Amino acid sequence: MFNEARPCFADREPSVRLDSGQRLLDLHIHSNFSDGRLDVAAIVSMAAAAGLSGIALTDHDTVDGLLPARISAEQAGLRFVPGIELNTDWEDEEVHILGYFIDPLNEYLLSRLDELRQKRRLRARRIVEKLGRLGLPLDFDRVQELAGGGLIGRPHVARAMVEQGYASQESEAFQRFIGRGQPAFVPRYNFTPQEALELISSSGGLAFLAHPGKINDKSVIYRLIADGITGLEVYYPEHDEGDIRFLLGLADRYHLLISGGSDFHGPGSGEKRETLGLSGIDENDFQRILEYLRGKPD
Ligand code: AMP
Ligand code: ZN
Ligand code: FE
Ligand code: FE
Repeated sequence: MFNEARPCFADREPSVRLDSGQRLLDLHIHSNFSDGRLDVAAIVSMAAAAGLSGIALTDHDTVDGLLPARISAEQAGLRFVPGIELNTDWEDEEVHILGYFIDPLNEYLLSRLDELRQKRRLRARRIVEKLGRLGLPLDFDRVQELAGGGLIGRPHVARAMVEQGYASQESEAFQRFIGRGQPAFVPRYNFTPQEALELISSSGGLAFLAHPGKINDKSVIYRLIADGITGLEVYYPEHDEGDIRFLLGLADRYHLLISGGSDFHGPGSGEKRETLGLSGIDENDFQRILEYLRGKPD
């Protein structure tokens, strides 16, 4: 089915999608249900104002925003893809897996996400303890407050650090203290990309490798293709033309779908993550995803 009808991505120009004149779907967006700064209603208004034709909400490790986002998006006449971004680790690489069209009511998914959320909370506590020992005390309640009752991530710790004047920006907090290899770094729970693929597939979704251009060891990408990933996030603000060409070539060779999105986290989250629709896919690429979904056995 899908494979025979495949277009040749490798012949395509790796154009900057913003200038393509087409209405795009932005399939990588974070709300304040994870570490984004805007609520889903605000994101939908911005998406409609930006002329996007659809969005995917892909909060880290949570599906809590999917129902309200769907309602808002449908009211605004936007197409909506229920999504998630699972942060996993593989050897020395951080590997993020996007799941599209997952069932937000799937019980196995919800119970696994609940476990991950609890582990995140513990981890954030340990990071705050380490910072305290480094002479940078933080109030854990404040970190929780910044997380707004949603999932806790290092960005919330970083925001609390900026508030206390320990860093001038979140990125500095990561680079000096809480990033990998830094003194207050605490590894995340042990969750592998293979487990993420399994979780997404068992909840009816399609797994895409997020921002593969950020992965240093390219063999990790081939390994995930061998493990059965369905698609690659080709269009991404930090991907340059070389990355896009490479990824389109892989999609072509290994019969993968392609996706794209901005990784929007709201205003004030640092260059490149503040512009909704900065990257995305067009209607043709979206239709291919839908066709694949329709042809997929349950
Ligand atoms: P966590 O899942 O809690 O480990 O947090 C990971 C998130 O932190 C990523 O998804 C990014 O949103 C953010 N992040 C990672 N590295 C940096 C950095 N150097 N500067 C700013 N944000 C970062
Ligand atoms: Zn994030
Ligand atoms: Fe990511
Ligand atoms: Fe993301």
